Amino acid sequence: MKINATNFRSFGISIALGLFIAVSGFSQSNEEKELFFSYFDDSYVECRGDFLIRAEALNAQYEGVKIANLQVPSDSDNELFVDVCYIPAKNNKTRLLILSSGIHGIEGFVGNAVMDLFMENFVTDELLDETGILLIHGMNPYGFKYYRRVTENNVDLNRNSDIDPELYNTVNAGYGELIDFLNPTKPVKVGSMKNRFFVVTAIRKIIQASLPVLRQAVLQGQYQYPDGLYFGGNVQEPQISRIGAAIKKVGSDYDLILNIDLHTGYGERGKLHFFPNPVEDPVLKKQTEDLFEGYQIDWGDGADFYTITGDFSGYIGKLLPGKTHISMTFEYGTMDSQKTMGSIKSIHNMIIENQGVHYGYKKSKDQKKTEQRFLEMYYPSDPAWRIQIMEQSNEVFEKLFIR
Ligand SMILES: [Zn+2]
Repeated sequence: MKINATNFRSFGISIALGLFIAVSGFSQSNEEKELFFSYFDDSYVECRGDFLIRAEALNAQYEGVKIANLQVPSDSDNELFVDVCYIPAKNNKTRLLILSSGIHGIEGFVGNAVMDLFMENFVTDELLDETGILLIHGMNPYGFKYYRRVTENNVDLNRNSDIDPELYNTVNAGYGELIDFLNPTKPVKVGSMKNRFFVVTAIRKIIQASLPVLRQAVLQGQYQYPDGLYFGGNVQEPQISRIGAAIKKVGSDYDLILNIDLHTGYGERGKLHFFPNPVEDPVLKKQTEDLFEGYQIDWGDGADFYTITGDFSGYIGKLLPGKTHISMTFEYGTMDSQKTMGSIKSIHNMIIENQGVHYGYKKSKDQKKTEQRFLEMYYPSDPAWRIQIMEQSNEVFEKLFIR
C-alpha cells in the first residue's frame, strides 16, 4: 500500500462518506477509505480534468510521454474529447499495457477513478523498464457527459469496433423477434401497467425461449434498429478509427499487448469480475491465467455465456496481428445481474432509458426516476460500494504491476 498522509487528497470528500464512516464505525483505515472515495467525481468535465492533470504530471516525470486530445465530432457539443497518454518503456519495449475506460460513456466515472488510482500509484520506474503504458480516457465522451451508455448516434461502441466493415451487415435475427419488448415507442410512464408487470412479461419470455437464448439475442449487438438497444452502428464511429490508429502506431513497437478495459454494471454487486476475450489457444489461455493467478476468471463457458460482435478488445487484436494479445475486461458489478432477477431489472432500466431518449417521458418525474435508476446502475452512489471496488482494484494492480 503506497498511500500516506502526504499524498492524501483533502477535497472531494462528501458528507455521505462521513456518515458512512460514522455509521459503520470504521476507525483503523478511515484515511485509506477516504482516499479511495476521493478518486470519484460526478461530472465528465471534472473527470477529464483529473486525467489531464495526472497525464501532465507523468509528462513532467518521464521521457518521451505523448498526450493527445482526440476531439469527437458532434452536432451539439464542441467539448467532447477522448484523451490519450502514452508513456514509452524506458529500456526494452517488451510489453504494452493498454488501460482504457468509458467506452460505455456513463461507465466512465468509475473508469476515471480506477485510472486515476493507477496513474497516481502504479506508474513506476520499475514497471516502465520494459513496459510501455497507453492510457485511453473517456472513449465515449458524449455518453460520459450526458449519462448515456451509447454515443450521440445511439451507438454502443463495444459493438461498433472492427477493422472489417462487414460487421455492419450482421443480422441478429433473435433481436428482431424481441423488438416490441425491447424498444417500446411511446413516452415513458414508469408506473404504467406494462412497466409494473415487466418482470412477469420477462419471465414469460424466459420460459418460452430460455435465458441463454434471450441473453444472446439481446446482448450480441444489432445493426438494423438505430433507435434500439445495443445498436452497433452502420459505420465505424469516428473515435474508434482514431483510437485504433493510435493503438496501431504505439502497439507496433511491442511484442506483448495486455489490454484492460474498464466497465461497470454487470455481475455481483460490489465485485470486480474478470472477463477475458474467448481464447482458443491453450498457451495464451495459460498466460492469462498465470497473470491473473488467484483470481476467478470468467471464461464464459458457463450458463451465462454469450458472444458479442464488434467488441473493442477483439478490435485491438485485429489491429495488431501476430502479437501476443492478452485482453481482460474489468467489470464492476452493481445490481447482481448475474442472477435472473437482477438481469431483468437491469434490462428494464436500459429499455426505459432508451425509450425516454427517443420518445420522451409522460411527466418530468418519470424522467427523473428513470435517469436516477440508470445512473445508479452504472455509477452507484453508495460510498461503501465505491470504496470496495477501489480496494479490489488496488489489490489487483499491486499483484499485476508490483512484483
Ligand atoms: Zn460496459
